[in-house]
Amino acid sequence: MADNGDPQIGTTKKITCNQCKYATHHTLKALHTQLYTEEDFEGDVGYWAETKYLFWVCAGCDTAVLEEQITDIVNVDQHGEHIVDVRFSPKRSAYDLTEKSFKSLPRKLKQVYRESIQAFNNQLYTLTAAGLRGLIEGICADKNISGSNLKKRIDGLTAHLPKNIVENLHGFRFMGNDAVHELTTPSRHDLQVAIEVIEDLLNYLYELNYKASRLKKHLRVEHQPGEQEAG
Ligand SMILES: [Zn+2]
Repeated sequence: MADNGDPQIGTTKKITCNQCKYATHHTLKALHTQLYTEEDFEGDVGYWAETKYLFWVCAGCDTAVLEEQITDIVNVDQHGEHIVDVRFSPKRSAYDLTEKSFKSLPRKLKQVYRESIQAFNNQLYTLTAAGLRGLIEGICADKNISGSNLKKRIDGLTAHLPKNIVENLHGFRFMGNDAVHELTTPSRHDLQVAIEVIEDLLNYLYELNYKASRLKKHLRVEHQPGEQEAG
C-alpha cells in the first residue's frame, strides 16, 4: 500500500552489525509483506496497515538480522509521505554496554548488576538508577556495612575501597539520600559514568574475570572443561 517499492532479493545495504560492531554490507535473503485492510460498506478500503519483513545477512560475519518496516494509512508526514517505522531483531547493540564477569560476585548481586546493564541498554534510565542503588545497598549488606542511611553506608565502604571511588559514588545525585525516595531520571551520560565507577568498585571487591570478559567478545567460545563462570 505504501508506494515505496520492494527491494530485490540479493540487494545490499549497510546496517550496523552487532558482531562486527560497525555498519557493514548486508545482503537481502528474503522479503515478506503483511497487509491488513478494513473495508467500508461500499467495499472501499477505509484503513490499511503494512509490515514488511526483510531478512538480511552480514557480508562480514555471516550473522542475520530481521528488519521490520511498519506503516499504516494514518502514519504520514506534513507532505502526505508515509512514515515508515523501522525495527531490527535482534536490536542493534553498537552503543550497548557489555556486561562484565566478576569472579566472586554473589549470585543475587550479579543478577542486580545484570539487570541494571539490561535496563541501561533498553533506555530504562529510572530503573537503571534504581538498580545501581540496589546494587550498592546489596554490596554494603554483603560487606556487613551498616549505617542509618545510604550516604553513611557508602561512607562505610572506605574501609574496603580507595577513597576516590567512594567520593565518586557520592557525586551521583541519584545515590543521594533524597533520591532514594524520589523517582529521578538521571541522564544516560551520568548513568554510564556511574556504571564505570561501580564496575571499578566491583573489580576491587569481587575481581574482574578478565579471561571470561575477553572470551565473550569472540563470536564462538568453546566451553573449557573445568572452567567455571563467575557466580
Ligand atoms: Zn557482521
